Amino acid sequence: MKLIFLGPPGAGKGTMAGRTKDLLDIPHVSTGALFRENIATQTPLGLAIKETMDQGNLVTDEITVALVKNRLDRPDAATGFILDGFPRTIPQAVALSEIRELDHVINLSCPPEKLVQRLTGRRQCQVCGRIFHIKFMPPKVDGKCDDDGTELSIRDDDKLEAVKNRLKVYADSTRPLVTWYKDHGLLRIVDASKAPDGVFEAIKDVIGY
Ligand code: AMP
Repeated sequence: MKLIFLGPPGAGKGTMAGRTKDLLDIPHVSTGALFRENIATQTPLGLAIKETMDQGNLVTDEITVALVKNRLDRPDAATGFILDGFPRTIPQAVALSEIRELDHVINLSCPPEKLVQRLTGRRQCQVCGRIFHIKFMPPKVDGKCDDDGTELSIRDDDKLEAVKNRLKVYADSTRPLVTWYKDHGLLRIVDASKAPDGVFEAIKDVIGY
């Protein structure tokens, strides 16, 4: 199955893509995570994009499309994948439509006031990538990953100033994709303002599981 998780920052794309990946056993391709790996290992790409990402701005379409094409060409993505955070612009969606046919574009919709609260409270394990929230999904031991005990950290772009910018960038560049995918008959709307289990059930309904 070939899926896209669309939605504003903080809608829960990463969390839901992770759960759906386990259900379907297909790769979860997060452009944000791939970029963060490049930053952590200080590759030339990582050094070039760090400032852009820290401020919550978009990496260029050219760089992003090349990264995704490269990832989707790997054998594990031959029969299915979940794209999380890509596409984020119309040119990216056009480029994707030229290389892959999709089954569903799942739009996780959530009111803006909830998004800020979700993003600024988000904490992530740098080792396994698991996401927690200080209020809504706290780890068993304060500040430590449930899976491997690693100290949890806050992403630079989850700080309030960057969050505000990311929501503006979403409204300007990414929200037009909702109409674009609706016009292409692929849009499925899921109410992502509920608790995670309820959102996941709605996603399972959409994909027929
Ligand atoms: P995310 O983890 O999806 O919230 O992405 C974090 C950051 O990575 C974004 O704020 C952008 O700076 C960059 N990024 C991720 N996906 C894309 C994309 N499809 N196009 C451009 N920049 C992206």
